[in-house]
Amino acid sequence: MHSYEKLLLENKAWAAEKVSEDPEYFVRLSHLQTPEFLWIGCSDSRVPANEITGTQPGEIFVHRNVANLVINTDVNLLSVLDYAVTHLKVRHVIVCGHYGCGGIKAATTQTDFKAVLNMWLRNIKDVYRLHRDELNAIKDEESRCDRLVELNVQEQVLNLAKTSIVQRAWKNEQRPHLHGWVYGLKDGIIKQVFEMPAGTHIDAIYEYEGL
Ligand SMILES: [Zn+2]
Repeated sequence: MHSYEKLLLENKAWAAEKVSEDPEYFVRLSHLQTPEFLWIGCSDSRVPANEITGTQPGEIFVHRNVANLVINTDVNLLSVLDYAVTHLKVRHVIVCGHYGCGGIKAATTQTDFKAVLNMWLRNIKDVYRLHRDELNAIKDEESRCDRLVELNVQEQVLNLAKTSIVQRAWKNEQRPHLHGWVYGLKDGIIKQVFEMPAGTHIDAIYEYEGL
C-alpha cells in the first residue's frame, strides 16, 4: 500500500465512526457553517488547529501559511479574512505562532533561500529590525528565536488591525477580538502573548475615516 492510500483508508474509517456516533453528523455540517473563530496559523504539520484546541469540524475557519504572516498584499489571506469577518461574522481572530518555528529561524539567518522564500521571509526580517534592541540583548539563540516568534505574532495581530476589513467590523459590530497566541511544541500548551479587544486604537496613520 502507498502511504497516501493509508490516508484514504483512514478517512473511510473516520467517516464511518462519526456516522455511528451520530447518524446526522455530516448532514448537519453540510447545511451549516457558523464558526466563531478564524485561525491564522503556521503551515507546520505539528500545529493542527482543531486538534490542539479540541475543536470539531465547523468550529474554526482556518488559514495557514509559513510563519503565520498577515501581509497586506496577500490576496489569499485577505480573502479568507474578509469572508470570515464580513460574511461568517466570526467573533475572534487568532494568530497562532509556535516556538521552534522553522520559518522564523530561517529569517534570522543570512542564508539565500532563493526568490520566493526570500520574499516571504523578508517580512519576518522587518519584524526583527523593528525589535532589534530587545532581540539583540538576548544572548541565547533559541531564546532569541522564541521571543521573535512572540513579537512576530504581535506584529501580525497589528497587521490585522490595520485592515479596513477589521476596522469596519470594529466600528459597526464591536467585533472581532484579535488574539496573538504561541503554541509550545515541547509541552502542547498555548500561551497568550498579545490581545487586542475590538475597537482598540492603533497609530492614527492606519485608522480609516468614514468606514
Ligand atoms: Zn512554523
